Order: sequence, then structure tokens, then C-alpha cells
Amino acid sequence: MNLSEYIRNIENFPKSGVNFKDITPLLANSDAVEHCVQQLLVLIDDQEIDKVAAIESRGFFFGTLLAQKLNAGFVPIRKPGKLPYKTLKEPYQLEYGLDALEIHEDAIKKGERVLLHDDVLATGGTARAACNLIEQLGGEIVQCNFLLELEFLNGIKKLRSHPVKSLLKY
Ligand code: AMP
Repeated sequence: MNLSEYIRNIENFPKSGVNFKDITPLLANSDAVEHCVQQLLVLIDDQEIDKVAAIESRGFFFGTLLAQKLNAGFVPIRKPGKLPYKTLKEPYQLEYGLDALEIHEDAIKKGERVLLHDDVLATGGTARAACNLIEQLGGEIVQCNFLLELEFLNGIKKLRSHPVKSLLKY
């Protein structure tokens, strides 16, 4: 299956100059979703995972599916003000301005083996902030995986020593 056929390019969304990778055609096809899950599991390569942490909101689609297949717990990493219990917060730099991510402070126990998942790796700032939260809770990041990686933005550099895998590279 050629997964790139299920990714729609939307030029200049959400702002001028951005080529947005729209995964909704992929989500709309159950065979393509199952194929992605199986291929992501291949990338994980039987490594033991206690928790799958995924980034709001498009990371949640495959993050929950992966957690089920791996018999792991699912941990949402969300935008500020969305999580109801006590949180840790990590600010990060956007192209213009600052944003932040939050995690529940009891979401990961010290020493747990964590897979971080999101739909797209672009500049890496978002995934880096998520990794910082996981590490502040004592989680060990086994792998960061993505459906797509925009290689020309070199986001992998921000993820330092963590193993990074993606199904498609642009
Ligand atoms: P970054 O922090 O630059 O790596 O951006 C990654 C986050 O922004 C991910 O949560 C993606 O969902 C989203 N994102 C960034 N660039 C794109 C893009 N070209 N198409 C779709 N989503 C993107």
C-alpha cells in the first residue's frame, strides 16, 4: 500500500507558506489505518512499552490504537488548560511566539518505558517539549514515532539522542 496516496497536501494552510499534510483521507480508510498501525508496530520492533504518550490532537488517533496493540497505557499530552488534574507544563517556541504542552503529573511513573507518538514531525519543537515532560516524570523514551517527517526542517536534531522513526519522509 502506498500511504502517501492517503495524505492530502493543502497549500497555505493554516497560513501562507505552509504545506499542510492532511491525514483525514487516511483516517477515512480503515485498511490504510490498519496498515499504518501494523507498520508503526514494525518500527517499534517488539520493544517493551509501558505507556504510549501522544500529542493533542492528531497524535491521539494512532496513539490510542498503538497503546491497545502494545498492551500499554495511553497518556494524552495536551494544550494548556485542557487536563483536569495536576499538571506539569512545558513551554516551547513557535515560529512566532510561545506555546506550551501539559501532562498529568501522575501519568507516567519513574522508569516506565514510553513511546512518544504524533502525526507529523516538522521543526521538532512540539515533540521536544513532549519529551521534556515525559523525562521530568522519570519516563524513559524508547522511541519517538510519527506518520510523517518533514526532513527538510531537521526536527530530528531537536530530539537529540532519542530514536526517531516515521512511516513517510518528505
Ligand atoms: P513542529 O513543532 O514544528 O515539529 O510541529 C509539529 C506539530 O505541528 C505536530 O503536532 C503537527 O501536527 C503539526 N504540524 C506542523 N507542521 C505540519 C504540517 N506541515 N502538516 C500538518 N501538521 C503539521
